[in-house]
This record gives sequence, structure tokens and C-alpha cells, in this order.
Amino acid sequence: GSIRQNNIINGNSPLKLFTHAKTTITDIFKNITSYVNDSNIYLSDVIKSDRNLISNEKYKEIQHLKEKVSRILSIISRDHMKVVFFGRTSNGKSTVMNAMLRERILPVGMGHTTNCFLQIEGTDKIEASVLIPGCDEPKNINNLSTIGNALSREKVDSDSLVKILWPKEKCHLIRDDVVLVDSPGIDVSANLDQWIEKYCLDADVFILVVSAEATITIAEKTFLHNVATRVSNPNIFILMNRWDATDDEPEMVDLVKKQHLDRGLEFLCDELNLYQRKEAAEHRMFFISAREALSNRNIDLSSSSKSGFTKAHKERLADFNKFEHEFEKCISKTAVQTKFEQHANRGKEILSLISETITNTINKSQTIKEESSEKLIQMEERNTFVENELISITDVAKEKIRYVAEDVYKRVSQTLND
Ligand code: GDP
Repeated sequence: GSIRQNNIINGNSPLKLFTHAKTTITDIFKNITSYVNDSNIYLSDVIKSDRNLISNEKYKEIQHLKEKVSRILSIISRDHMKVVFFGRTSNGKSTVMNAMLRERILPVGMGHTTNCFLQIEGTDKIEASVLIPGCDEPKNINNLSTIGNALSREKVDSDSLVKILWPKEKCHLIRDDVVLVDSPGIDVSANLDQWIEKYCLDADVFILVVSAEATITIAEKTFLHNVATRVSNPNIFILMNRWDATDDEPEMVDLVKKQHLDRGLEFLCDELNLYQRKEAAEHRMFFISAREALSNRNIDLSSSSKSGFTKAHKERLADFNKFEHEFEKCISKTAVQTKFEQHANRGKEILSLISETITNTINKSQTIKEESSEKLIQMEERNTFVENELISITDVAKEKIRYVAEDVYKRVSQTLND
């Protein structure tokens, strides 16, 4: 039953894990909002009753929770999954991204024009637009070639960020909250540390695109070493691109593949010490042709004769699909953990702060009652309204605390374990 249920929840893509968790955590925080509001109403009555049941500081602290919770809700609404692509110029980064986006969005083969960071993110608008640093307004882009034109006309620094706002409805990756970042060729940028500081610290996944005709360079390795010192347990994928080049030398394919695999695994597993060899060989390195994957995705499948593809071609397409699936699983799981676990913990803190405060006021009120003189009891009677409210709200509050807290624990741990 649960596998079927998971499939329904996840749709076809593992990315749904993230979007589902985001909806869930939003609901939870809406619950917390109403609980915070109720508690504030109750505590302001307590303050008005002037019986010293709660200190002013505590009261203010609880009042501030309102803003805190609404801030968290707005952060959640902006939470997304982020993947950074890097590698030398012309290794095929833009082509890989286009293949994943299933459209030729990024300009390809114009090394000099993409000499800055390009971030592709979703917009609810129907039209695509470009946001260039220094300009306040995004510029509409009517067709794709204008992205290239817009970029080559503007002077942008190599470490500045140009945003492409792409209609969510056009692309499933973007609809499911994935933000993709293309970087300038690692061979042309001197300031790798600054790159990491500015654009990579919140990345969930790093994808190194290597040309199968070359090997991983020192610059690429240095970059990943720096990433690994700043980001704990980074998720790295290595794509050996242009694997179609091996069609010219079919007898060499297995040997070359083994060499690439050995070197890549040595780097990821022994040098960076990030994964086990078996796991990395299965899940972290892929031999693909981004160009073939892109054109395969752009053709009308009904009219094409897929049977014309060679075995090697089919294998490359299959490896691209496998990579995408692994990528989607990995990025959604990581993003849920790094982003939502933190929110869930804040939620739990907020709940226990309120619950503790309310319990304290109740205990205090009871103590006062027990110790109080006849006069105080009379005064108490004047406060029966507050008193009754206090009791009823306490019961409701306790019930709510239990419900919300259990809900948070259950849903979060379920989401994290999926
Ligand atoms: P980037 O500079 O890393 O973004 O590289 P691009 O994506 O712009 O690609 C540079 C050139 O390599 C373009 O002409 C692409 O068409 C070509 N290219 C990209 N991927 C492949 C591939 O898998 N096989 C072949 N043969 N060419 C590719």
C-alpha cells in the first residue's frame, strides 16, 4: 500500500518529495500561526488582569513570535532546490542544462557571452524575462536568441549574476522549484573562492561537466576541494560529456571508460573522501552526450525512427536518463533535509516556548489562589471571566499544542525518511 501511496504523492518525479514537503511544512506553520495568535489573545488578557502572572519580557517575547512565524512562512515560500553547473568552457554545461530543461533556453557555444553566472528560476508570468545586475526591471525576452543578444550587449562582470525568469508552466524542473545556475568556464575565472562564497554555499547539488576527450583538470579539482571545505558533505555529480566522440574509436570505448571511471572515483572517494566507491560508480558518474540528449528530447517522438539509433547512442541516452533520475532523488532529499529540518526545529522551539509560558501562568495563578486572602478571592471573582477563559484556552491550547507538535514530528520525520 505505501509504495503505491508514495507513487501517487510523488507523481512521476522524485522532485515531488520536495514540493510535497514544502506544502506540508507550510500547512504546519499556518497551524502554528493560528496557535500563536490564540496564545497572544489569551496572554494579553492575562496581562490586562494585572495579576503578575507573566513578566513583561516574556509577554513581549511571545508577541514577537507572530512576526517570527510570518518571517519563517515567507522564507519557506521562497525555499527552492539549487544546482550549480561548472567545468571548463565548451565542455557542454549549457547543453546539459538545456537537455534537462528540455528546451534550448541557454545560448550554446558562445563561451564569451556566458562569461558570468546565469541563474534560471521560475516565474508565474507567461513571458520569460532577463534580470541584469544594475537594471531594476526585468526585460522581456520574446525569443530565445534574445537571451544571447541581451547578454552580449550588456557589460556584465564575470562574477555577477544574471537571472533568467522562465515561465513555470513551460518546464517541470522549474515548476517543481529547481533553480539552475550556470557558471563561467572554470578556466577563465580567477576568483573561485569568491564564487563559492557568493553562489554556492546554499547549493544542494554540484554538477561537474567534463569533456570525455579531456580529463578532470587541476582547476576543477581545486574548485571541488574548496567546495568540500565550505559545504559539509556536498553532493557532486560528474558528467563525462561528449561521449559520442567515442563512436569514432569503438574498440577503445571500454578501456577509456574504465580509465575515466577510475580517475573520477579516485578523486571523489579517495581524495575528497565523500562516497564509497561502489555507490559513486553507480550514482555519481555518468557517460553521456548532452547534444544527443537535447536533440532527442526536442524531436517529435511519433514521427522519428528511434530504431535508427545505434546501441552506443541508446546507452548514452539511457545514462542521461539515469543521471537525471539520480539527480532528482538526490537534490530533493538534500533540500528537504537542509531547509525544512531547520524550519521544523524552529517550529518545535516556538511551540515549546508558548506551551511553557502558558503552563507557568496557570501554575502561578493556582499558587496565588491557594495563598490568597479573602480580599484576593473577591478580586479573583471579579476576574472570573479571565479565569474561565484561562482554563478553557488552556485546554484548547494544550490540545492544539499536542496536535501541532505531533503533526510536526510525524510529518517531518516521515518526509525526512522517505
Ligand atoms: P559550455 O561552454 O560548457 O556551456 O558548453 P556549450 O554547452 O556551450 O557547448 C559547447 C559546444 O559543444 C557547442 O557547440 C555544443 O553543441 C557542443 N556540445 C555540447 N555537448 C556535446 C556533446 O555531448 N557532444 C558533442 N559532440 N558536442 C557537444
